[in-house]
Amino acid sequence: MKKIRQKTKQKTVRKTRENIQNLEQKKQRAEKIIELFKRYNPNPKCALNHSTPEELLIATILSAQCTDERVNIVTASLFKKYRSMADFASADLTVLEQDIRSTGFYKNKAKSIKSCAAAICKEHKGRVPQNIEALIKLAGVGRKTANVVLGNSFGISSGVVVDTHVTRLSHRLDLSRAKTAEKIEDDLIAIIDKPHWINFSHWLILHGRAVCKARKPACETCYLEELCPKRL
Ligand code: SF4
Repeated sequence: MKKIRQKTKQKTVRKTRENIQNLEQKKQRAEKIIELFKRYNPNPKCALNHSTPEELLIATILSAQCTDERVNIVTASLFKKYRSMADFASADLTVLEQDIRSTGFYKNKAKSIKSCAAAICKEHKGRVPQNIEALIKLAGVGRKTANVVLGNSFGISSGVVVDTHVTRLSHRLDLSRAKTAEKIEDDLIAIIDKPHWINFSHWLILHGRAVCKARKPACETCYLEELCPKRL
């Protein structure tokens, strides 16, 4: 019995050591990946057009299950028509639905935007709150949207934005094998230095669109190839 317990303990110690080593290796690889991203794309930007934190919040809500290009087409006229959170809060729901219809799931999105804008007017004087706790209480705002707004509008690193591109590239680059966005974010936070959290998701998103596409990754022309285990 004593021997079995000792063996189990040794196994656990070995496993822990391996995990720590893996984490260290991943951190080192992530640093090299960041160096290359910095070299090839020194100033990555958010692809959603906006001129205020409030506009970015609305654009990010609209971007769920929709391309950034489509959102930018819709918001070009939307932000001329609705100029403040008060305008969105007092919008006629059926009119707002039609205004955003082409972004998909327009009924839910219109309801969320109206109720989110009303809460911002009532509780935050019409301005987007600058902390994640307050943001995720708003209708239609999850961690991803909150991270996008805090990172891009206020330069606050509250986490790593995980969308479909970040998920795919994190898997292919073997930076995370997790299935859910929350767990992938936890894995990335553990290996990426905080000052890079905001840019890291921009880089993965841009690289996912241009090179490491969902159907056909262009590995032969990819500058990350030497660092990528290509878990396709
Ligand atoms: S080497 Fe291939 S799989 Fe890896 S990041 Fe580049 S395109 Fe994607």
